[in-house]
Amino acid sequence: MQTKVIRITDSITDGTSLKEAADILRAGGLVVFPTETVYGLGGNGLSQAAAEKIYEAKGRPSNNPLIIHIHHPAEADKYAFAGDLYNRLAAAFMPGPLTVILPKRDCVPYATTGGLDTVAVRCPDHPVAHALLKVCDFPVAAPSANLSGSPSPTCADHVIADLSGRVDMIIDGGECEIGLESTIVKIDRDEKGEYLTLLRPGAITYDALTCVCERVVIAGAVLEQLKEGERPLSPGMMYKHYAPKIPLVLLDGDPQDVLAFLQKEQAGKSCAILCYDEETTALKPENLFLVGTRDDLATQAHTLFAYLREADKTNAKIIYAHLPKKDGLGLALYNRLIRAAAHTIKKI
Ligand code: AMP
Ligand code: MG
Repeated sequence: MQTKVIRITDSITDGTSLKEAADILRAGGLVVFPTETVYGLGGNGLSQAAAEKIYEAKGRPSNNPLIIHIHHPAEADKYAFAGDLYNRLAAAFMPGPLTVILPKRDCVPYATTGGLDTVAVRCPDHPVAHALLKVCDFPVAAPSANLSGSPSPTCADHVIADLSGRVDMIIDGGECEIGLESTIVKIDRDEKGEYLTLLRPGAITYDALTCVCERVVIAGAVLEQLKEGERPLSPGMMYKHYAPKIPLVLLDGDPQDVLAFLQKEQAGKSCAILCYDEETTALKPENLFLVGTRDDLATQAHTLFAYLREADKTNAKIIYAHLPKKDGLGLALYNRLIRAAAHTIKKI
């Protein structure tokens, strides 16, 4: 398949290209588009055939459900049963990097939801995504536009490397601002009322969610390795994710001790290091990737996936990164890094 790559810098003046993209989607094709989190691999969310094509292009198991993207939060009710708590979440965080799992309506095929009776809904905050969704008269189902198992793409070059020849069109909208996938919550109910289960942490933090809903429960698979045979609440958590080919090891310890360990490692063997800006003067420059300052979690999130891809292209035998704290955006960084490292943490 020939993949057309178009660059869109202004979604208003580039309206013709967006119409072409919408026509491809309407005809059952696949279009990759930028969002504020990562690039999405889009297909018509109401079409079983399009969902099947997405799974095939990505090499993703078809029981791992897709997120449907809408241009306005109120659209959710067409495809799902959205209630009061959804409306409050939408008022606080949409458009934005939040995905909400709701009971699905019949119009959404089981192929899109991986066989589940629930559907994941998100309204992205990105001018190109918004303009594209607005000209589509259907929701766009889109998982991250990477090959299954590799880091999510945060710029068009990552998408081209993974999906060229597998999709009809790639819209290059520059770098994704956030760089980590959306926060996913599920609305649940028990005898005490409604509450949220956090299935995947992202830029909408645990603390921000608790401002809208008092009870937020963090799903076990967010921080821990699943036990053998255990089924996660979010099927995506079952799979090894974001894994570089070179083994990644996370370092946990006092900052001075970790730095001393890294200096010793650099002297002894070929390693790539995702280090804080403050550490550069103490380390040799080969295969060093500056992720931002120690406290700048937004830059660390923005650079993580790109650097995992870059580090993987080096001749290093091992990749080291710091184990993040679990506060604020750190929880999302922690969740992605422990999965990329297959839970390999070295205590220093
Ligand atoms: P991706 O699109 O690659 O960011 O992955 C989407 C994530 O959303 C996967 O981890 C899915 O397991 C999760 N997801 C999508 N729909 C549902 C659903 N109905 N219930 C639980 N998790 C879902
Ligand atoms: Mg993904």
